[in-house]
Amino acid sequence: MNIESDYGKRGVEGQAGQQSRQQLSRNLALIKCPHCGNDSDFLEVADNVVLTTHYRQNRDGSFTQESDESQIMGEIRLYCGECHHDLSHFHSRFLEMLF
Ligand SMILES: [Zn+2]
Repeated sequence: MNIESDYGKRGVEGQAGQQSRQQLSRNLALIKCPHCGNDSDFLEVADNVVLTTHYRQNRDGSFTQESDESQIMGEIRLYCGECHHDLSHFHSRFLEMLF
């Protein structure tokens, strides 16, 4: 539907500049690996993560997990899921688009 309306605008004078800006912002909405072109699979890697898990020992000697929490002490990096190219400069945008 959007594509159709864009085609319609193409013939109208004075809207060509507006249209190219719209296309640009649409391209910027996707994070794409500059190395292999992948725009669907990404890896987030956290360094120096401290995982603390709270267990309670039961009367029969078994343990039940009560809670766990992770604390990230180091950097968080973003990688391409296909070629593992470092995409960390996209990480803040990745977080903005994370739902
Ligand atoms: Zn890649």
